[in-house]
Amino acid sequence: MNKTESSSQENRRLSALITGGSRGIGFGIAKELAKAGFNLAINGVRNESSVQPVLNELKDFGVEVIYAQGDISKKEERLQIFDAVVSEFGNLNVLINNAGIAPKERKDILEAGEESFETVLDINLKGPYFLTQLFANQMVKVKKETSDFSCCIINVSSISATVASVNRGEYCISKAGIAMATKLWAARLGEFDIPVYEIQPGVIKTDMTVGVTEKYDNLFKRGLSIQKRWGLPEDVGKVAAAMATGMMPYSTGQVVLVDGGLTVQRL
Ligand code: NAD
Repeated sequence: MNKTESSSQENRRLSALITGGSRGIGFGIAKELAKAGFNLAINGVRNESSVQPVLNELKDFGVEVIYAQGDISKKEERLQIFDAVVSEFGNLNVLINNAGIAPKERKDILEAGEESFETVLDINLKGPYFLTQLFANQMVKVKKETSDFSCCIINVSSISATVASVNRGEYCISKAGIAMATKLWAARLGEFDIPVYEIQPGVIKTDMTVGVTEKYDNLFKRGLSIQKRWGLPEDVGKVAAAMATGMMPYSTGQVVLVDGGLTVQRL
């Protein structure tokens, strides 16, 4: 294949932006999408040199990978992320709102303070909501011009959208908010044939859960979930890849739980 052929093939690839894509669940999603042939924009807050090994690992799948650094909770940085993605890939096909934080400290809702509430809501809810608004407007514009343009939006929320944990209320509220955002964006973008999906992971082995390893090791042994193991980033990645590659064409607004059956009520 000559250089022109190879670059025009590159241009035909679909593109995906994964917020918080340089580690944990986001990286698991990035690997599955790279395997499926997507060019990737990886967003995160760390500087580019510290995520270079991760970017190189993704490039080894033979796809184009860029880093779109920025804090999704800040308006001007969301705009920078948007500009970086558009200037590299043109029109984005798949937005994956994955970045999120847990409260720094788990505190009983009788005592927890407002500062943590604001930080968690800014990053977990306001950030993805308005990043979606930016890309949704662009997707709508492209859809109006080219009706066969393929695109979708995927929100990574949590089983905490429905399961109450009284020692991290702000996290649960942020994820319940994302669940409503999924419905809102699905309803608004339906007329343009832009599906919006949600994934609710259960307990997944990442940096976010490292501090509660022993607790959940024991709970899994005692039957917390039907499948007696931790969830892995790739478990979430495979579901995101199914959504991103159009394997759920008539399911906009739907939620897929990736929790090993944790939320299946049993007697
Ligand atoms: P993680 O802490 O390993 O990774 C989160 C990523 O998001 C990191 O790369 C981090 O740098 C990035 N990030 C954080 N704040 C950001 C910001 N303001 N702007 C841009 N990027 C930011 O966490 P994870 O376990 O991989 O979680 C990923 C998503 O999955 C989160 O939304 C989390 O709430 C959700 N989730 C995780 C679990 C779990 O058990 N690990 C369960 C359910 C849902």
